[in-house]
Amino acid sequence: MRSITTFDLQYAHRFYGFQGEAQYLHGHTGVLTIEVEDTVNEGVNMVYPCNEIQKVAWDVLKNFDHALVLREDDPLLPAILDVYEKQGIKNGHPQNKMKGEAFKTPLATAYPDCRLVVTKETMTVEGMIKIVYDLLKEKLNIAKITFTSGVNAGSAEFETKNNIERCPLCGITLNKEGVCPKCGYKKK
Ligand SMILES: [Zn+2]
Ligand SMILES: [Zn+2]
Repeated sequence: MRSITTFDLQYAHRFYGFQGEAQYLHGHTGVLTIEVEDTVNEGVNMVYPCNEIQKVAWDVLKNFDHALVLREDDPLLPAILDVYEKQGIKNGHPQNKMKGEAFKTPLATAYPDCRLVVTKETMTVEGMIKIVYDLLKEKLNIAKITFTSGVNAGSAEFETKNNIERCPLCGITLNKEGVCPKCGYKKK
């Protein structure tokens, strides 16, 4: 069975070199849906708590919210960093609080201090699905990711492969020692 949860992401991007309006900088509210698949955990009668999927995923997804997403070869990138630098916000600002965990994968690098994500490929809905799967595939048994942004939508299905041991009392992933980090349950 599957546990399914969605996230709203407000971001700006553009398709550098694309022949169409999308080559101009513009923004979206993107909706990302993550479907986690597993057996039903009998203790709690759920696959995986959706609020826990939210917590695990939001740690990295926060990087895309109120952020600018640009491809690594986009000439806007140095121009924007220059403006941020001169304005004194490139390396953070006291009001820039909702920061995600910085990450670097072959597909994308997040710079939470200036709310920027630099991507290897153009951040289409397809590109975003690849980036998100890569970031979360070890932490969650992701069976499907859907991303919609304006009139664009994409989805991809994945083979789940992690053997995630879940707490029978609250449903979340047990740590390496077999202990639940939330309620302290210990596997016998
Ligand atoms: Zn767009
Ligand atoms: Zn627990």
